[in-house]
Amino acid sequence: MEYRISQRAASLAPSVTLAIDAKAAELKAAGVDVVGFGTGQPDFDTPDFIKNAAKDALDKGFTKYTPAAGLPALRKAVADKFLKENGVSYDPSQIIVSCGGKHSCYNVMMAVCQEGDEVIIPAPYWLSYPEMVKLAGATPVILETGDATEFKVTPDQLRAAITPNTRLFILNSPSNPTGTVYTPAEIKALGDVCVEKGVLIMSDEIYEHLVYDGAEHKSVASFSDAHKDHTIIVHGFAKAWSMTGWRLGFLAAPKPIAKAISAIQSHSTSNPTSFAQYGGIAALSQPLDHLQGWLTEFSKRRACTLERLRAIKGISCCDAKGAFYLFPNISGTGLKSSDFCDRLLTEQNVAAVPGIAFGADDYIRLSYATSMNQIEKGLDRIETFCKSL
Ligand SMILES: *Cc1c(COP(=O)(O)O)cnc(C)c1O
Repeated sequence: MEYRISQRAASLAPSVTLAIDAKAAELKAAGVDVVGFGTGQPDFDTPDFIKNAAKDALDKGFTKYTPAAGLPALRKAVADKFLKENGVSYDPSQIIVSCGGKHSCYNVMMAVCQEGDEVIIPAPYWLSYPEMVKLAGATPVILETGDATEFKVTPDQLRAAITPNTRLFILNSPSNPTGTVYTPAEIKALGDVCVEKGVLIMSDEIYEHLVYDGAEHKSVASFSDAHKDHTIIVHGFAKAWSMTGWRLGFLAAPKPIAKAISAIQSHSTSNPTSFAQYGGIAALSQPLDHLQGWLTEFSKRRACTLERLRAIKGISCCDAKGAFYLFPNISGTGLKSSDFCDRLLTEQNVAAVPGIAFGADDYIRLSYATSMNQIEKGLDRIETFCKSL
């Protein structure tokens, strides 16, 4: 029997990050001492007060459907968070809780994009964005950037890419994969262009709280009512609360868009897991005290990784003040990213993600969400590898 796969699915590129993870896991299972720089999640446990709230919800029998867009108390808590931390006021009806920030992004594409639309995505990009755009029938338009500009797009670059078909601009600061944090002035300038041209912005702010060295995160929605009216903020619990497996994210959108997303969700996943949502309410009910220790640790690892990378011949690395990634340039080694990562894994048992997965073949992504011990060991091996080339 021949199975016809839909064009929609057949056009998808499978996730390279997952392939690397699988290969590293295979080696580990075979007893090989693999150092993993591939991970996209914090290596800290979910704080106990959040786990306890979910356990409590289970014990109380909160195991049934909730409203598709999320528990009213959680939508209210998210709206309160945006007002308190970001200075942006939303009615709880504008908040949709979904099964992870990734799901929130997907819902946005489904709600606002269609055939003939163009979506502007700065590269290096989070690898799911272009695939989601294609799933919605729209066309990704990639804006190239490099380490010379800390991977930032300029307002002129954005303006030049906008056509009458441009529907959406995707902004992700702090960024995965580069760790780049745009300054408030830079964010405002990009927002100004979108407001002027009538282009929507999907602002993925999931790394908002993971910034170092005095860098400041500012939401594009916070600059004026016009900015807010052009913006959909995507966020979630995965990173700052280390809840990747809980599958819980949220977004804030103009009312008609929120309503459309709620309808889409009511016919696809329905509500995100009921007791996970109680964990989410607990998470937002507390100040981010648990984060201080994590940030101190990430900050040390970031400094160490950066310093070690910069001392390796053939590698250069620009500063990046956010998330838990660095995105070194490997073009001085003469290898492209897939070759570099394949050989690094085979010859030195170090897993890293090739930049080509993020639209940037001269770079690799290193995650420092791993112990200092592993970081030192992994960088020793990368150094040995580069010397051998
Ligand atoms: C991790 C991540 C998300 C959301 O992940 P979920 O696990 O689905 O909540 C969204 N955007 C970026 C850029 C990420 O790195």
